[in-house]
Amino acid sequence: MFNEFKERLMSEQSTQKHSFQAEVAQLLHLVTHSLYSNPEIFLRELISNASDACDKLRFEGINHPEYYENDPELHVRVSLDKDNKTITISDNGIGLTEQEAIDNLGTIAKSGTKDFMSRLSGDQKADAQLIGQFGVGFYSGFIVAEKITVESRHAAADPTDGVRWISTGTGDFEVEQISKASRGTDIILHLRDNALEYLESYKVKQIINKYSDHISLPIEMQKEVWQQEEAAEGEEAKAGQMVKTDEWEAINSASALWTRNKNEITDEQYIEFYKNLSHDFEAPLAWAHNRVEGSTEYTQLLYVPSKAPHNIFTREAKAGIKLYVKRVFIMDEADNLIPNYLRFVQGVVDSADLPLNVSRELLQESRDVKTIREGNTRRILTMLDSLAQSEDEIDQEKFKQFYAEFGSVIKEGLGEDFGNRERILKLLRFSTSTNDEIATSLADYKARMKEGQKAIYYVTADSLSAAKNSPQLELFKKKGIEVLLMADRVDEWAMEFVNEFDGIPMQNVAKGAVDLGDLQDAEEKKALEAAAEQFKPIVEKLSDSLKAKTKEVRVTTRLVDSPACLVTGEGELSPQLIRMLKQAGQAVPESKPILEINPEHPLVKKLEGSSQFDDLANVIFDQAVIAEGGLPDDPAEYVKRINNLLLK
Ligand code: ADP
Repeated sequence: MFNEFKERLMSEQSTQKHSFQAEVAQLLHLVTHSLYSNPEIFLRELISNASDACDKLRFEGINHPEYYENDPELHVRVSLDKDNKTITISDNGIGLTEQEAIDNLGTIAKSGTKDFMSRLSGDQKADAQLIGQFGVGFYSGFIVAEKITVESRHAAADPTDGVRWISTGTGDFEVEQISKASRGTDIILHLRDNALEYLESYKVKQIINKYSDHISLPIEMQKEVWQQEEAAEGEEAKAGQMVKTDEWEAINSASALWTRNKNEITDEQYIEFYKNLSHDFEAPLAWAHNRVEGSTEYTQLLYVPSKAPHNIFTREAKAGIKLYVKRVFIMDEADNLIPNYLRFVQGVVDSADLPLNVSRELLQESRDVKTIREGNTRRILTMLDSLAQSEDEIDQEKFKQFYAEFGSVIKEGLGEDFGNRERILKLLRFSTSTNDEIATSLADYKARMKEGQKAIYYVTADSLSAAKNSPQLELFKKKGIEVLLMADRVDEWAMEFVNEFDGIPMQNVAKGAVDLGDLQDAEEKKALEAAAEQFKPIVEKLSDSLKAKTKEVRVTTRLVDSPACLVTGEGELSPQLIRMLKQAGQAVPESKPILEINPEHPLVKKLEGSSQFDDLANVIFDQAVIAEGGLPDDPAEYVKRINNLLLK
């Protein structure tokens, strides 16, 4: 009697209550209160965690062989207990210390979950849908459980240093020290009354096959046999039943998906594997799976997602490649295995050559890694190219979607990966002055070039409409010459690295003087020379008046409707790029644009002998700034000058 009392007292003393981090509490509320559309995913999530714990043991076991204790066969076991209404997911992986249980099961660290939380709309139904597709790791256990008990012991820890974590998924959880003979973690779900179907082994097997077949460890359940008592003579046949034996059998194929033969893997399996890997809930657009042999041997399984993550343009964006060495998980986010401009690619690389104890620093210097990165790059670019070239409508649709999501990301490759510049250029699509759809490739453009046209012309601007209405296009429009429109932030920078495509020079129409070559006839050239002669005094006066703002003033034939436009000298930064760099807080070398004037325009003609020459000159200049998406240096002064002119 007294002993019992003492024990209870001791256990009460050693049990500690902890509160969940606010985000966890919020998530749990959602998990338990939303109409739940796809409850079975809890099993996928918990098995995936168990498998990760075994991967971690395998990795840390390289330097700590004692972690294996005397139990080297890693596995996940699922057991069902109808009497106690529990389903238990056990692993003999790395296990948790008490502190790890408190930290890892009470807070959210995973970026995927944070991303998920940020997408919640507050509308229960929509959120329930989202959560069903997304999965939220450990906490998804509360979809089916009214209480979860976690019992765990870290590998190689003393058997008395186990931990029990208990929560009903409301505000807090309890933690106490326990004895646990076997290493690893048991997740015991005390099922809600509306989730008792998960006590049926056929149902559980079905779910494991659906979601977790590719897990590389055996997922085991107790083998069952049919038992039927024999009826005695003259007696009615007795009812039989399935009875559990002590033997465990694997439910899944237990071979890492990428190690299997391509023709043994279904599309569904590839897709399911991707979803597990990436925490994305949409199917990928395309994938490539290859065993590469040669001086460096490795397997690559690479996916192109169908949607860009919201942080693709921030520093947080992480490479999505997991590195394995001979099937042992080594690291996530192995950014040395894929160039930055393909950072959206998700997948697995399994190397046969790298050492198991490879570190990020070592990866940086490894020749094998360089070869793998080049192989991955080529594979992805080839895959994208074949989507782009495909006659198949579905492929074309996929390429379109790819381009809408990632087109501006791959353009970064023009500046980063000189060796693949041609391949990248082939993937680019543009809208043009004669075709609004973002569908024209450089090859299409080349095929449509006019006779005598010697360059591929393009214009960059802050928006497509600014590009389309740019004064610089006026002459091109008049002559029916197509011009590529570029309005991605990265375009201006990326195009700095591109001089030609397929033997044809690329020419920014806002850079340098226009030279339409054979497209301009002798008469036009003569007219220009005559105008230049006639406007010489005005040009000089303008140069003087706008000394502070421009580098040069000259007469042009490129304009039809506008009085003037700004151009950039060959080899200089455009005003647009300067704006961009300034916005990004970078120091920019001072450079002034060139002002080109249209001798045919009434405003320009009005300059001659004007009593308000200075106002008119400055307004013409500032309007050219505005026309290409900028702001006058001194907007108030601009307004004043306009008003002066209006009043006279
Ligand atoms: P995630 O697994 O994506 O990090 P979870 O919420 O599923 O997020 O799990 C939180 C953390 O709890 C894991 O990162 C891991 O450290 C720990 N954990 C969960 N399940 C296990 C397990 N079976 N064995 C060891 N650690 C686990």
